[in-house]
Amino acid sequence: MLAVSPPLTRTQLMTAVLEAPPQMPSRPRSVAAPALAETPRQRASSESSQALLGLLRLSKIAAADLADSSIELTLDGVISKSVLRSLLGGLHHRDVATVRHSRRVALVAVGLAHHLGWDGRQLRILEVASLLHDIGKIGIPDNVLYKPGKLSPDEIELMALHYGVGSDVLQACRVDPLVLEIIDQSQRAYSPGGESSRSLGREIHMGARILAVADAYESLCTEQVYRQAKSHDEIMKLFTEGSGTQFDGNVVSALARWVQQDGLPFAAQPSEINDGGRLRGGKCPIDDHEAMSIRQIFTYLFTLEGLYDGFHLLDADRNFLIWSRGADSLLGRRIQDMRGQPWSCRLLGYRDFQGQAIHDDDCPLRQAMDSGRTTMSQMEALRADGPPVRLELQAIPLYDDDDVFQGVAEVFRDLARSGGKRPQEFRELKLKATRDALTNVANRGELETQLTALVGEFVRNPNEPFSVIFADADHFKRVNDTYGHQVGDQVLIDLAKLFTRETYSGELVGRYGGEEFVVLCPGTDLEQAVRRAERLRSTLQDTKIGGVERLKITASFGVAQSEPGDSVESVLRRADKALYTAKEKGRNRTCSLTNADMLQEGRVQQAVAKPADPWLYSSGFNAVVGSEMVVYKLGGFVSDYEALLPEVTTERVIMRIGSPSWFSRFSWNPEPPPVEIELIMAGLADRRANSNLQRLHISVNVRPRGWVRDSQTFQDRAHTLVNELKQYFAAD
Ligand code: GH3
Ligand code: MG
Ligand code: MG
Repeated sequence: MLAVSPPLTRTQLMTAVLEAPPQMPSRPRSVAAPALAETPRQRASSESSQALLGLLRLSKIAAADLADSSIELTLDGVISKSVLRSLLGGLHHRDVATVRHSRRVALVAVGLAHHLGWDGRQLRILEVASLLHDIGKIGIPDNVLYKPGKLSPDEIELMALHYGVGSDVLQACRVDPLVLEIIDQSQRAYSPGGESSRSLGREIHMGARILAVADAYESLCTEQVYRQAKSHDEIMKLFTEGSGTQFDGNVVSALARWVQQDGLPFAAQPSEINDGGRLRGGKCPIDDHEAMSIRQIFTYLFTLEGLYDGFHLLDADRNFLIWSRGADSLLGRRIQDMRGQPWSCRLLGYRDFQGQAIHDDDCPLRQAMDSGRTTMSQMEALRADGPPVRLELQAIPLYDDDDVFQGVAEVFRDLARSGGKRPQEFRELKLKATRDALTNVANRGELETQLTALVGEFVRNPNEPFSVIFADADHFKRVNDTYGHQVGDQVLIDLAKLFTRETYSGELVGRYGGEEFVVLCPGTDLEQAVRRAERLRSTLQDTKIGGVERLKITASFGVAQSEPGDSVESVLRRADKALYTAKEKGRNRTCSLTNADMLQEGRVQQAVAKPADPWLYSSGFNAVVGSEMVVYKLGGFVSDYEALLPEVTTERVIMRIGSPSWFSRFSWNPEPPPVEIELIMAGLADRRANSNLQRLHISVNVRPRGWVRDSQTFQDRAHTLVNELKQYFAAD
């Protein structure tokens, strides 16, 4: 399905990276039952390890391509072609305007260098550097990347992190070191606090000087939202003024001569407005899934660069693959000196606070690798120039789905600067992702922010109600089961597009989680909102989505309107309950619910309460635990009772205890009756948007298996088991 070469490695990359998209706690991880006891390593399977594993896979593809000199898999050995394609595809997906800019910068830089007599591999290195100089932008949060107005100082600082992110990825992708150096130096010349004296020194690579001029030239002749495009003459005037201080004078005069001789570089392509990424450019070279996995890598590195003081990544042979800029300035060691070197405690001068050297065999990295879990510790490292630095260190071991060691990362925080490094708002700004990575509609956090605002507005002005539409795809699990997760993902993407297209501009479409979407409708009463939901429902029913012939998707809708006394939680709960009713009544329909309905229903339910089933024991409890962690919490219980786990997802776990036997009834000393325990996990509404931990309500149903003498024996047994079970969760 993914027409990318080389097919095998790419498929491996995709399956591993896409298995777990970020921030989607409701997707079930099918943990194979027998593996439960033996894979503590899977506990480390978090967003961070998924992103880093994805990066390590790209790295492997690059290594394989670059090692193969017989076939045309690389651009003159500078970069793997398929890796370049993935990276540019990821950028195209994220921001078409930046890809277009990069291409045009490459055009100018290469033309200029050619004019200066460059050729062969030298030229190729400059071309690749130009194409990838802005690659880190893939990871910039939307609120900064797409901000229409001027950026605040904090936002500028945040934006500048993309240089480090780009460098990290290019290192891991084994791009020629000269490419990194050229990009790095060309940017340093421009960064607001950049060492401009250094940037003009002789050691600045000529390629960096050319790239700096080409970058500025392209950007000045392109109309931006905030400024007019400049003509060639205007630009040359600016360049001449900046010659020797901002730009290399020789490069500027070469540019003038080149244009005089060959004409304007973009004569064939009239300048277009850079409208912040909404430009329709050429076709994206990779599909949504691949783009998503690339984006996941960049987004994670962006967080890492922003929140920590430095990190490094080692490959499976424990050689340095990435040495971050932060690690460079914290430990005073340059990328060029670290890349490819074997890691050791000695090399980094690790020691405890008493000054005792730490040995490789009992260092945190070793412990992390052995246990398969991230370890946290504090220690000192020696800077290259001598003095020790006190660090908090996190070692993140990276094992793939087959439990094979792929690499390990060490992430540092400088204890001396801890907390004081940057203001809290800056950190929050960094983490403020508002979009869902898969569907690009608002994420749950953003939905909750907006809903909170609506509730506040409603309290001030109760005559202006708002409504909430909860939508959930019907039998979505079957889509995954029949067509695979990739088609499932495509359906979600299309569903989000359809909802966005079919709603009005003041309304907000967001992904609540999994295959659940929410539409917030300000100034809309229940009747109007139900009509809107019905329109969404019938349009969906009549639209082919997911890119698969004969695939029909429907969804069920629950609608609620704000009522006096409502909180974010209560109005969501009502809409969710209405959705549940729509499901119960047969799906592909819209139901609504008011507080009055709920009151009425409560009375009815009390009146028709049925006698309890003697062969069913039902109970429930609340626990604070990430839904992904439920199976691990159960680990002890499972091994104590030698339970079998025929089904494990994040929503449901089935456990079987004891084996049914016809002979047990003849036994003098009967075994406790075998039972099946079903756990159903549901997140409670007060879960935190960005936290892995959430309050779960766990419903437990116990049923007998095989023959059981009497129902009381069964009920007693079930009661004991459930009480035991609660202890493993420290339930409240
Ligand atoms: P119902 O009609 O009752 O809603 O049935 P359903 O199968 O849609 O509901 P259920 O909640 O049992 O299953 C939801 C499924 O959604 C399970 C999970 O595989 C799938 N899912 C959740 N998140 C994602 C995702 O990001 N991508 C894909 N492909 N599937 C997802
Ligand atoms: Mg569903
Ligand atoms: Mg669902």
